[in-house]
Amino acid sequence: MIVKPGELTGNIRREADVAIIGSGAGGGPIAKELAEAGYSVVVLEEGGYFTREDFDFRPGQAFMRLYRDAGQTATVGLPVIIVPQGKTVGGTTTVNSGTCLRVPRHVLKRWHLECGLRDLEEDELNLLYAALEEYLFVKRADPEVVGENNLLFLRTAEKLGYSGGFLPRNAKDCEGYGVCAYGCPSGAKQSVDVSFIPDAVRAGADVYTRCRVERIVVRGGKVTGVRGHFLDPRSGRRTFRMGVDAPVVVLAGGAFQTPSLLLHNRICLSSGRVGENLSIHPCGATMALMDEPLGNPRGIPQSAYVDDFAPEGIMLEGVTLPPAIMAMTLPWGGRRHAEAMCMYSRIGTFGSMISEHDSSGRVVAGPSARQPLAFYNMGRGDVERLKRSVLLMAEVWFAAGARRVYTPLEGFKELAGARDLGRLARTRLRRAGIYGLSAYHPMGTCAMGGDPHNSVVRSSGETWEVENLFICDASVLPTSLGVNPQLTIMALAVRAAGFIDDRLSEGSIDTRNASRLDRLRNRLRREKESTIVQ
Ligand SMILES: Cc1cc2nc3c(=O)[nH]c(=O)nc-3n(C[C@H](O)[C@H](O)[C@H](O)COP(=O)(O)OP(=O)(O)OC[C@H]3O[C@@H](n4cnc5c(N)ncnc54)[C@H](O)[C@@H]3O)c2cc1C
Ligand code: SF4
Repeated sequence: MIVKPGELTGNIRREADVAIIGSGAGGGPIAKELAEAGYSVVVLEEGGYFTREDFDFRPGQAFMRLYRDAGQTATVGLPVIIVPQGKTVGGTTTVNSGTCLRVPRHVLKRWHLECGLRDLEEDELNLLYAALEEYLFVKRADPEVVGENNLLFLRTAEKLGYSGGFLPRNAKDCEGYGVCAYGCPSGAKQSVDVSFIPDAVRAGADVYTRCRVERIVVRGGKVTGVRGHFLDPRSGRRTFRMGVDAPVVVLAGGAFQTPSLLLHNRICLSSGRVGENLSIHPCGATMALMDEPLGNPRGIPQSAYVDDFAPEGIMLEGVTLPPAIMAMTLPWGGRRHAEAMCMYSRIGTFGSMISEHDSSGRVVAGPSARQPLAFYNMGRGDVERLKRSVLLMAEVWFAAGARRVYTPLEGFKELAGARDLGRLARTRLRRAGIYGLSAYHPMGTCAMGGDPHNSVVRSSGETWEVENLFICDASVLPTSLGVNPQLTIMALAVRAAGFIDDRLSEGSIDTRNASRLDRLRNRLRREKESTIVQ
């Protein structure tokens, strides 16, 4: 069942096989896997529970209800970067764009060679990805609903010789409403709130909403449960107490909250890596004033990509912005801003995502576990990559017939053509002069690795220091991923569910056990057969 605060009459104390903190890309899949395997599972989620009837296209309401800090969580450093994160059942997947990509091969190789993660075998991951893709109805975005903005950019990029295509997404019969970031009103997007969590609940899991975990209980080096409070939906104040006694605890609060909980509980700290190693995939955006309307905001917000520059760490991905987000992104104020917004229907947008090479970031304990601080400074090389991505996008826009291109770079807010592009190419950007940057993929702050001295969790997801405490969220990804991370977070979570099953049933885990792969293959085969029989 899904329990809401209004249904409570007092403190709650429960026993379970597994307590899971957070119901997002990591927490949801693990809840489903373990509940379906017959374990008693309790999920504790700080955010509220909303359904498609609540997703009403209103941005103010969506940011207040579905996001942490109303979507304005920011890093401290140069430049300042907004890093929105979901806080609701389904976590950030409820508000994300639905793109589902596998870990690039060269990144996996790096994990093998530099992070000591050789037992993350490509074969096994591919099986997990395939199963998830089937479960989530992942397929390429339908050209019928990708929207004129994305189509125009993609076609022009292809004419210029750049490779690209339509992104694989987990949206079944997507109607291109263009508001994925406010919660999908048609229920097409298979975010965790409409996929893994309902299945987990059907299998017997209990999900407590508006329940924030504050304490992880550890006795004799073993985790034994969690403690927290329910929160009043209006004031956010603590109400009743919540406690779960469980032999296994899974931390899946995301790359900011998970290290913050560990830091406040003073556990798993001996490697000194908790909170370190933050990467976020900084995103640049360009907006182009076209002669003809593009049908904004209709169309899938993020449906096309150009990957020609992925080896350099630059991925271009389409974004069609709803009016409220465009209003926040335009580089103007006052009258200029109003004039630009009047041309909303003619403004095309496209974004870039930088896979970090020399930026550095960390999450530190803030005044409360709820408010960690994230420090992040972009390195010179990454600033150059960001500039290059803006130049590439502007080149495509001008080739598509743009009159002007707007950018987030001081001194280059408006580009008029080739001369401005040349000037920008020759300029060394000041980090303080880059504004309005955002990033959507915080990760790495409790990195997985093969050495307890420089990582926080083993390849199974279990922490090196506290037995039976697992971490299954974006914080375990050991390096910048280069692609959108949700599918990899889910794959690692399902993999970890197998180890937790081993631990609860047999008491031990062997990550190199070859029969694991066979078991997984057999299970997938059986699931497939049963689908055919139905
Ligand atoms: C606008 C946007 C678009 C995106 N688009 C894509 C995309 O298209 N494809 C993609 O792959 N990725 C995308 N992402 C990123 C992706 O959604 C995240 O990387 C992913 O959801 C992270 O998974 P997670 O499990 O680490 O955390 P989350 O999914 O954020 O889940 C964490 C949950 O834990 C809860 N929690 C935290 N602390 C506590 C606590 N102490 N007690 C109880 N509960 C707690 C939080 O409230 C939250 O609900 C996007 C992100 C954003 C913001
Ligand atoms: S584009 Fe619209 S219908 Fe499609 S997944 Fe996003 S919100 Fe749902």
